Amino acid sequence: MTVSAIGVIGAGQMGNGIAHVMALAGYNVLLTDISQQSLDAALELINANLSRQASRGKISDAELTGAMGRIETTLALSDLGATDLVIEAATERESVKQAIFEDLQPHLLPHTILTSNTSSISITRLASRTDRPERFMGFHFMNPVPVMQLVELIRGIATDKETYATCHKVVERLGKTAASAEDFPGFIVNRILMPMINEAVYTLYEGVGNVQSIDQSLKLGANHPMGPLELADFIGLDTCLAIMNVLHDGLADTKYRPCPLLTKYVEAGWLGRKSDRGFYDYRGEVPVPTR
Ligand code: NAD
Repeated sequence: MTVSAIGVIGAGQMGNGIAHVMALAGYNVLLTDISQQSLDAALELINANLSRQASRGKISDAELTGAMGRIETTLALSDLGATDLVIEAATERESVKQAIFEDLQPHLLPHTILTSNTSSISITRLASRTDRPERFMGFHFMNPVPVMQLVELIRGIATDKETYATCHKVVERLGKTAASAEDFPGFIVNRILMPMINEAVYTLYEGVGNVQSIDQSLKLGANHPMGPLELADFIGLDTCLAIMNVLHDGLADTKYRPCPLLTKYVEAGWLGRKSDRGFYDYRGEVPVPTR
């Protein structure tokens, strides 16, 4: 199957990055959101990010203009019915995603493939509530999308071979690398990464180390480019907690229990970089550890 038009649902952190890389790879992109403000902000951000790539010589000015010319926005979800591949990147709440697929379904072309960028919700369950579980799968980009090389492709229990092959070709055209994952909680990356971050929070909670010594240990002792607590702040502590809860509930093993200190930070609204405070305080010139 040939994909030429791609619909992206949700113009937040991930959706704008997905629209950016798809347009740069030559796909026509139709981006939708419930908020016109988010759509406007996304276009502005994509333009700024592409301009930065152009100023560093990574892309030409013609590529920049071409990519921007291939992105259209709409507030009407039904407009995405005319695309070949839909990537849903709306808020990480199952009821939100389910309602989106339900509303979109009557407008879809018969061949359209539906995918979700969800970090943790079951692909099989999302697929089962659509009219095309065999043409439904997980298309999981990493943040920030234009920079990160990996895309996890997640097969639901009903996903057919052609759907997988079509999505795999799209990943190749983006110049990214696909990792194939089965549909179990956290898929591959978050199944391994989040328990490590959670353990770093336990290490802090139990007083084994402070924020600085924990991050320094993993950076210098395990050659990680970012410390686990710094990384948690970057991802968002609410997102980290939500994924730990999915692992804990879905795998029913106490080794995945979220650290009470992680819950406490989220309760305080200290969600990391996005709220200016998490394991570090970002309100000054340089990040200052909060413990
Ligand atoms: P975000 O909060 O930045 O953006 C979500 C966007 O969805 C918002 O602009 C919101 O207005 C929009 N939205 C909400 N309901 C909608 C609806 N009914 N129709 C259309 N748009 C709607 O969130 P994000 O970080 O971009 O995450 C989006 C998805 O990507 C989530 O499923 C998340 O789990 C996944 N994801 C996030 C990351 C990350 O690091 N942030 C990484 C990989 C995957």
